[in-house]
Amino acid sequence: MIVREIRAKSILSKSQVYDYALNAYVGCRHGCAYCYAKFMKRFTGHREQWGEFVDVKINAAELVAREVRKKARGTVWISGVCDPYQHLEKRYVLTGRCLEVLIENGWPITVQTKSPLVLRDIGILKRSADAEVGFTITTADDKVRKIFEAGAPPVDKRIDALGILHAEGIRTYVMVAPMLPGAEGLPDKLKGKVDHALIDRYNYFYADGIYKRYGMEWAREGRFFRERGEELRAAFEKAGISCRKLY
Ligand code: SF4
Repeated sequence: MIVREIRAKSILSKSQVYDYALNAYVGCRHGCAYCYAKFMKRFTGHREQWGEFVDVKINAAELVAREVRKKARGTVWISGVCDPYQHLEKRYVLTGRCLEVLIENGWPITVQTKSPLVLRDIGILKRSADAEVGFTITTADDKVRKIFEAGAPPVDKRIDALGILHAEGIRTYVMVAPMLPGAEGLPDKLKGKVDHALIDRYNYFYADGIYKRYGMEWAREGRFFRERGEELRAAFEKAGISCRKLY
């Protein structure tokens, strides 16, 4: 694993999903097989495989402090092209410090992660009137998770973390993207732990080889997403969780 400390020029980037995206790291040690953020390699010049390098923007919090004074207030998506609570965050606390600055300045934030390390920042999150935390959970079956997301935390740990955040009064959501086999087990497990759910299909080609190797090509076909996606949406609603498909 190659870790490089860098000084970034700016940190709040314009985003098509929310007003801004904030990525304190370039690269992600979780190394999920389907990760769309692999395109970042085009811009960074890294030759290593995705998941084998991380650039750490050590001046991230100073940049946020400067930029919140200059830019129009808007919702910040943390992160977008990396997991903000990947392993290195334990050592560098960059996401935690950025979060603190944003919340002190009254900026709305939405966190998206696969890591229970976000629980470390519950105290900071509770100071915000407009913060939400989402976990990406693509399947309820940890055997499937290990195939596609071997470097990311187990499914049950993510579900437990959502339960803790929700019980602390923090708005929570689950992002089922890409929906994988076994996702049908999620509504029951997430009942009372999330405020809403989002479902998306597999939109990229990065994991084609894995689907093939494990005989799961049927699970990247349109029919799977049409039929199982609708069943999953209905099951979330039945469990009292409002749900939207993104395709
Ligand atoms: S956690 Fe997200 S950003 Fe990190 S490798 Fe997985 S999909 Fe990519």
